[in-house]
Amino acid sequence: MKYYSTNRKSNPVSFRDAAIEGLAPDGGLYFPDQIPTLDNHFLDELKTKSMDEIAYRILLPYVGECMKEDELFGLVEQAFDFPIPLKEVQKDQFVLELFHGNTLAFKDVGARFMSRCFGHFVKNQDRKMTVLVATSGDTGGAVADGFYGVEGVDVVILFPSGKVSVVQEKQLTAIGGNIYPLEIEGDFDDCQRLVKQAFSDTELRKKIFLTSANSINVARWIPQQLFYFMLWKQWPNDIEPPVVSVPSGNFGNICAGLLAKKSGLPIKKFIAACNQNDVVPRFLENGKYETKSTIHTISNAMDVGSPSNFVRIMELYDRDLEALKNDLVAYRYTDVQTEMKMLDTYAECHYLLDPHGAVGLLALQEFQEHHSKAPGVFAATAHPIKFFDTVQRVVDFKQELPVSISKLMQKESFSLRMPADYSVFKDYCFQNP
Ligand SMILES: *Cc1c(COP(=O)(O)O)cnc(C)c1O
Repeated sequence: MKYYSTNRKSNPVSFRDAAIEGLAPDGGLYFPDQIPTLDNHFLDELKTKSMDEIAYRILLPYVGECMKEDELFGLVEQAFDFPIPLKEVQKDQFVLELFHGNTLAFKDVGARFMSRCFGHFVKNQDRKMTVLVATSGDTGGAVADGFYGVEGVDVVILFPSGKVSVVQEKQLTAIGGNIYPLEIEGDFDDCQRLVKQAFSDTELRKKIFLTSANSINVARWIPQQLFYFMLWKQWPNDIEPPVVSVPSGNFGNICAGLLAKKSGLPIKKFIAACNQNDVVPRFLENGKYETKSTIHTISNAMDVGSPSNFVRIMELYDRDLEALKNDLVAYRYTDVQTEMKMLDTYAECHYLLDPHGAVGLLALQEFQEHHSKAPGVFAATAHPIKFFDTVQRVVDFKQELPVSISKLMQKESFSLRMPADYSVFKDYCFQNP
């Protein structure tokens, strides 16, 4: 399988090159040139298969000739080492919990797979690879954890000083090993600017094999299909296929779900659950795609004014809006609605939601109101503890910290503080790691 650019001005490349390059040279996103179809036999058998076997089967055609079959299997075993449980919250409303990975958000799946792929691709190279990432919080933790201990790869993570949560900062600074956190005296935009400048610095790139770990990377995007196959594996046989609501920001996760549906996975419909950053709900309403500047909300991992993966969704539907509307609906909610949903779900169902999951449940319920209670699922994308401040303020609850977090909080932190100055950063890159 090859990957072409959604801008169609760069040459198609292999999975390996698409992963290492991240973005295509023409600025487009890489997209697979064929979508594999699943035979019914596989779907029937799926219920008896392990997560590793399922992941291997769905990823094999996408990775193709870039890895030997047993290498891919070994990699999948290492990458996906946590459960993805489906639970019934109330009648006809199920939750798919995507947050049981190390950093308690669904991004672990993509980050772990991508990091293992990179480790594999540099194995027989004489040069180390350096992954540069700027983070406003969540992505950095998943990337740091995913790459920890991967041989041949160093990771330099830039985060804005004093602007990430306590847990997030620990996830970046207490890990050590091949993960190098840089505390930048500036904001997230400064961090991003330094990273961009490094990528356009030919002198630096001659010396250092640089790559990014951006969320648009094919090696992060494609494995997220696994969530929806794991959903199907656990879906009760005696209920009609579900509609699935996915809290969405950059639209990578839901786009992976739509990809799985295109391959034949029997999901009835996807529902994009959004906060006030509502470009996509408005587009589906009036056909106009108007990006806006980002609005800050309590479901802040979805605060995206211009969702970068939406071009992939359009590609998947050949830019046919009517066809897309058959498979996708989108709703938006305010923070007040989100908080109310967290409160009443805890009171009525004893289920503690984080703000992102709450938006997911709101959207599922709205869909069900219009469609005679079609059985459905919403994805819980983060553990409520991850957004402790908000959850604690809204809901009076008691829950112990997950072991992984309490262990982490006891560890010592290391990071290097530096001004938001490119020459200082460049010197650092030349000397280190
Ligand atoms: C990243 C993230 C999202 C948004 O996912 P996209 O793939 O960008 O749509 C939703 N919830 C949480 C908790 C996240 O970290």
